[in-house]
Amino acid sequence: MAEIPPEQMDSQTRAQAHLFNQQTPGASSSKAAQDTDSKKPPLPKGVVLDKDGKPCRTCTSVASWRALTKQAKSDSSSTSTSSTTSSATSSSPASFAAAAAAAYGTTPSTSTSTPADCPPDVEELGRSTWTLLHSMAATYPEKADTQQQRDMQGFLKLFSRLYPCWVCADDFQAWMAHPSGRNEPRLGSRAEFGWWMCDAHNEVNRKLGKKEFDCRFWEERWRTGWKDGRCD
Ligand SMILES: Cc1cc2nc3c(=O)[nH]c(=O)nc-3n(C[C@H](O)[C@H](O)[C@H](O)COP(=O)(O)OP(=O)(O)OC[C@H]3O[C@@H](n4cnc5c(N)ncnc54)[C@H](O)[C@@H]3O)c2cc1C
Repeated sequence: MAEIPPEQMDSQTRAQAHLFNQQTPGASSSKAAQDTDSKKPPLPKGVVLDKDGKPCRTCTSVASWRALTKQAKSDSSSTSTSSTTSSATSSSPASFAAAAAAAYGTTPSTSTSTPADCPPDVEELGRSTWTLLHSMAATYPEKADTQQQRDMQGFLKLFSRLYPCWVCADDFQAWMAHPSGRNEPRLGSRAEFGWWMCDAHNEVNRKLGKKEFDCRFWEERWRTGWKDGRCD
C-alpha cells in the first residue's frame, strides 16, 4: 500500500498514526529528514515528533520518552565523548534525546511516572488541562451574557491552536470545526458549557480507547463534589 504523504494526512489518519504509535508527519516531513532517518534505528513505539522533527515531550507518554532517552544513551555510549558533545548540539531526535538523558543525570528507569518536578508528558499535561477546562466550565455563569460567551469563545479558539501537544490540538480543532456545526462550543449557560466540555473530553477518551464518562455527573465531578460526601 502506498504511503500517504504527511501533508496529505487528515487528522483521522494522524490520530491513527498516533494511536498505533507510528511516527507522525513531523517525523519526516522533508527528504533530508527521511534520508537521515533511514540511517537511524527506528524511534521507540509511541514517540511523537514535533513539526520540526524533534521529539515532542508534551505529545509523548513518560514510558515512551524514557525508552527514547534509554535508546539515545545506549547510542551515545557506543560513540566517543567528543561525538556525544557534538551530537548534543545537533537537532536529530536521537541527539535531542541524548541531551534529555544527560539532563536526567541518572540512568533512565522504565517507570511510567516521573518526579513531580519534571516537565509533563502528554498524560500529565492532559490531566492538568482537563482540570482547568472543567473547572472553567464549573465556574462559568449560570446564564452567560454576550460578552462572557464571546470571551470563552475566544479562549477556546486560541486554546485549540496553542495547546502544547500539537497532535492533540489539531484533532481538537478539527472536532470543534465539524462541518455540521454540531461540536461548536455551547456557551449560553454553565449547564450547556459543562456538558459540551464533557462531550469534548469524551471525544478524546474514545480516540484513546478509554471508557466514556457519563456526562450526567460532570457537575458532581467538577463542581459540587459527589453526593456521597467523600469530597466534603
Ligand atoms: C484538548 C485535549 C486533547 C487531548 N488529545 C490527546 C491526544 O490526541 N492523544 C493523547 O494521547 N492524549 C490526549 N490528551 C490527553 C488525554 O485526554 C488524557 O488527559 C491523558 O491520557 C490522561 O488520561 P487519564 O486517564 O489520566 O484521565 P483524563 O482523561 O485526563 O481525565 C481526568 C479526569 O477527568 C474525569 N473525566 C474523564 N472523562 C471525562 C469527561 N468526559 N467529562 C468530565 N470529566 C471526565 C475523570 O475523573 C478523570 O480521572 C488530550 C488532552 C486534552 C486536554
